[in-house]
Amino acid sequence: MNEDKTLGSGTEKSEADLLRERLLRQTRHACEVMNPAEIAAADAFCEGYKTFLNQAKTEREAAAFLLARARALGFREFRPGDICRPGDKCYVNNRNKALILAVAGKEPAEAGLRLTAAHIDSPRLDLKPSPLYEDKALILGKTHYYGGIKKYQWAAIPLALHGVVVKKDGTIVPVSIGEDPADPKFCVTDLLPHLAAEQMKRTLDKGIQGEELNIIFGSRPILLDGKPEGFKLNILQILHERYGITEWDLLSAELEAVPAFPACDVGLDRGMIGAYGQDDRVCAYPCAEALFALEGVPDRTAVAVLADKEEIGSCGNTGLDTNFLLDFITDLVLGQGGNPRVALRNTKCLSADVNAAFDPTFPGVMEPQNAAYCNLGVVVTKYTGARGKSGTSDAGAEFFAWVRNLLDEAGVLWQAGELGKVDEGGGGTVAVDLAKLNLDVIDIGVPILSMHAPFELAAKLDIAMLEKACRAFYQS
Ligand SMILES: [Zn+2]
Repeated sequence: MNEDKTLGSGTEKSEADLLRERLLRQTRHACEVMNPAEIAAADAFCEGYKTFLNQAKTEREAAAFLLARARALGFREFRPGDICRPGDKCYVNNRNKALILAVAGKEPAEAGLRLTAAHIDSPRLDLKPSPLYEDKALILGKTHYYGGIKKYQWAAIPLALHGVVVKKDGTIVPVSIGEDPADPKFCVTDLLPHLAAEQMKRTLDKGIQGEELNIIFGSRPILLDGKPEGFKLNILQILHERYGITEWDLLSAELEAVPAFPACDVGLDRGMIGAYGQDDRVCAYPCAEALFALEGVPDRTAVAVLADKEEIGSCGNTGLDTNFLLDFITDLVLGQGGNPRVALRNTKCLSADVNAAFDPTFPGVMEPQNAAYCNLGVVVTKYTGARGKSGTSDAGAEFFAWVRNLLDEAGVLWQAGELGKVDEGGGGTVAVDLAKLNLDVIDIGVPILSMHAPFELAAKLDIAMLEKACRAFYQS
């Protein structure tokens, strides 16, 4: 802790100062409340986080990364019928795109879990099932954007292609092109300003339109007997040589175009990280790492779920609007001879997702008194939603009080924040899906600048605070 300059200086605090201290809610910058060693430890934690960001740009890669970590730490696959005993570590791998990690507590699971939930999918450009076409001596790939993006942000930046192609015989062919500095990259083109007079009259949301998000795949024809014999054929020939796939195989593929640049520090003081996909890896990583870092056996069973499909409404069998988490909890509790419904009612959950940080360049969309700010710690969000709180899980005051007490006791710097001005827009998190299970849930996360842009910013000290918050929660 920093030296309190008002103590030991011989000057008495005024009555007004004492009253302010006692009654007013004060916010403090993380640099004020963390000592140099804590700041250095937070920065070191974020180096690991950057590695994760660079190696896990898709939900599949994030699941694989965290699954490998879990296995190395002794986590075993959980199967229905298994009996989890105190200290047992287990995981569920849902179709390689979502994960559940758990450490069994001293108390039976029926006494309630300590559950964190984050998501590992991010907005991006998915290749359409039939993507490739040639036009005027160029080969392009059609895309269908995934999640809420400002489409114009995705033109004229280097893109990498990640994902899988699954052949008819079931063989999974992993694809990653554009991350190695020697790799070729991909790109959506934009119009030169000289000829953009009409384009510039479009509204910003139509600056680049969905069917203009076409990726450059190549520019040379295949030469057979010295003669050019087709551009698209050349690309398919290269793909076939490298991956053994044909155009048919692209139908059963999940190929995602994501920004090709790596995570980096931002600002001369290196206080922030800039990277693609921090929503919501910035919460998924601390949730998982805090679980991995647990020492001894926690009182309650600690669980982290890392889900897919949040950015499109958590639908689909790897999203949280489906039963995979409920099935796990049911099997876990039944295995111990308990009642799953009782377990759910006793469960406390942190829905770990990002919130918008106040951006001084765009102050008009925020209500400053209820906004979140970078470096003021983790942001606890009672409700999200739109307009009159539509589509939100509005956490109960009782549970908020419980979380406040937990964070204060653990020395976690935290702030309260809404998403923005009431009528400005809105958003949601998986808290709604979790609340359906009849458990207590509240949103907690890291404030982000440029959310959903190809390059999002987060403050390192907030990220480390979230890890600390998760650790305290698992041990509560
Ligand atoms: Zn998001």
